[in-house]
Amino acid sequence: MALQVWPHTEVLVAGGGPTGIVAAIAAGLAGARTTLVEQHGFLGGEATTALNIHGFHSNNETHIVRGIPWEIIDRLKKMHAACEMRFSEFRNLSLPMKMVRDVAIDKEAFKHLTMEMLEDAGVKVLLHTFVSDVVIEDDALRGLVVENKSGRVFLQADRVVDCTGDGDVAARAGAPFEQGRASDGTMQPLSLMFTLNNVDLERAVDTVGTRRAVAIDPEPWMSKYQHFMLPLSQWKAQLQRWFPELPEKNLFTAFTGNALRKGEVNGATGVHVPHIDATDAEQLSRAEILGRKYAWRMAHFMQENVPGFENSYLLSTSAHIGVRETRRILGEHYLTYDEVIEARRNENVVALGGFFVDIHDYEGRSEEGFVPSKGIIVKDGGYYDIPYGTLVPKRVDNLLVGGRCHSASHEAQASTRVMGTCMGMGQAAGAAAALSLKQGVSPRELEVKGLQQLLLQQGAFLGERFLEAEPPAEHPV
Ligand SMILES: Cc1cc2nc3c(=O)[nH]c(=O)nc-3n(C[C@H](O)[C@H](O)[C@H](O)COP(=O)(O)OP(=O)(O)OC[C@H]3O[C@@H](n4cnc5c(N)ncnc54)[C@H](O)[C@@H]3O)c2cc1C
Repeated sequence: MALQVWPHTEVLVAGGGPTGIVAAIAAGLAGARTTLVEQHGFLGGEATTALNIHGFHSNNETHIVRGIPWEIIDRLKKMHAACEMRFSEFRNLSLPMKMVRDVAIDKEAFKHLTMEMLEDAGVKVLLHTFVSDVVIEDDALRGLVVENKSGRVFLQADRVVDCTGDGDVAARAGAPFEQGRASDGTMQPLSLMFTLNNVDLERAVDTVGTRRAVAIDPEPWMSKYQHFMLPLSQWKAQLQRWFPELPEKNLFTAFTGNALRKGEVNGATGVHVPHIDATDAEQLSRAEILGRKYAWRMAHFMQENVPGFENSYLLSTSAHIGVRETRRILGEHYLTYDEVIEARRNENVVALGGFFVDIHDYEGRSEEGFVPSKGIIVKDGGYYDIPYGTLVPKRVDNLLVGGRCHSASHEAQASTRVMGTCMGMGQAAGAAAALSLKQGVSPRELEVKGLQQLLLQQGAFLGERFLEAEPPAEHPV
C-alpha cells in the first residue's frame, strides 16, 4: 500500500492517555504546532477506566503535582465531576498509611474536558490512528508511520513524544529498553476495570470494616466512601466455585474499588491476569479475554455473596484491559528504587513523585506479594525528584518519552506509573519538545534550567527550593 504524506507538524505526541494529553497541551501552550495521535476514538487512556488518580499529593500532604494536571482536576471540580478524598485505615493501625490523599474523577467529564483543553491549546487531535512504525535517519526520528481509515500515512515531525505507555515509538526506533523484574523479567499483572451499579456501599464497608477513604468536601450526590478494600477470605469456597481454574493459593483475597457516585462502584484493580507480556499481541488478546471473563464472574460473585451488593449488576467494562507495566525505555537517567524510597533530590528535576512502590502480586492474588527490602513508602511521607534524563531515550534523537514507559527500574516505575505522576512527566516532556525546537537544539542537549523555568511558568511545582528562587524575567520560548 502506498504511503501517504500528510502536512508536517512540529511536535507529534503518540498516545492520548493522561501523559499524552498533558504533553500535547504543554507543547501547544509553549507555542509549538502540535498533533496528538490516539488509537481509540476517545482520549484518556487508563484515566477513562474509572480509576482514581493517585500521586497529586505526597503522604505528608504536600501538593506535588500542580500545573496543567491540576488545572484539569480544578476544572473537573468546578464541573462537579471530581472529588478529593482522605484515607483511613481500620485494620492495621500500627502501620504507616500507604496512601493518604487521592482524587476521584468522572471519566466522561475527563474525556470531554481534556478534548476542550487540547482545542484551546491549538492541538490537532487525530483519533482512530495507530502508530505502527517510525521514520529514522542517522538515529534521528523524522516522524511516524500511522495506520487509520485513510490507509498508511507518514506524519513528518520535528519532535516526537512517546506517550503510548508501552514505549512503542522508542522501541521501534531502536531505543534500548527493559521489561519486568531484574531476576526473570516478570511484569506486574493486568486487570480489566468494570463498574457495578446499584450497590449499597455503606452497608458493605460498614459490615466488613476495612480500609476506606471519605470525601474531603462532600457533595450530596457523592458516595460516602470514595475508596474501599473488602477482604474476601470468608467467601473462599464461593470464590473457588466462580474461579475453578485458580489454585487456592492464587485466589483473589480482596475486592478493591472506588465509588465517586452513590450506588456506583468501580472495581477490579485486584482481579488480576498475571504472567502476560502486553507487547505480545497474542498474550494481550488472551489477557483481554480472561479479564472479561473474570469481570463477569466477579460481578456475579459479589452479587451472590457480599452484603450491600445483592441488587447490583454489571453496568460496564472498560474499553481495554489495564496494563501496569511493559517496556521501560532506557534514558540518560535511570531512576532507581533508592532514589524513590529515599526521597532524593536531583538538580535536573522536571516532575515529582510521592506514591508508594505499588507492586501487585506476580501470581495474581489481590494483596501485594513483594516488598522491596527498604519498604514501599517514600521516606517521611515526602517526595522524590524525577530528573529530565528519565524522559530522554538513549541512542535516538528528536524523541522524548513520558508516563509509565519512562526510564526507571521495575521498582521505581511501580511508584512513578500512577497517573498524577505520569501527567507531571507529560507536562515536562511536552514542554521540552517545544523548547528544544525553539532553541534549535536536540532534546538531549536542552539546558534543563530553561525547561524548569518554562515549567514553573506553566504552573508546575518542582519543590520548595524553586519557590524561593527569583521568578524568571521572561518567557524562555
Ligand atoms: C488495572 C490498573 C489499575 C491502576 N490503578 C491506578 C489508580 O488507581 N490510580 C492511578 O493513578 N494509576 C493507576 N494505574 C496506573 C495508571 O493508570 C497508568 O500507569 C497510567 O495511566 C499510565 O499513563 P500513560 O499515559 O503512560 O499510559 P496509558 O494510560 O496506558 O495511555 C496510553 C495511551 O496511548 C494509546 N496508545 C498506545 N499505543 C498506541 C499506538 N501504538 N498508537 C496510538 N495510540 C496508542 C492508548 O490507547 C492510550 O490512550 C493503574 C493501572 C492499571 C492497569
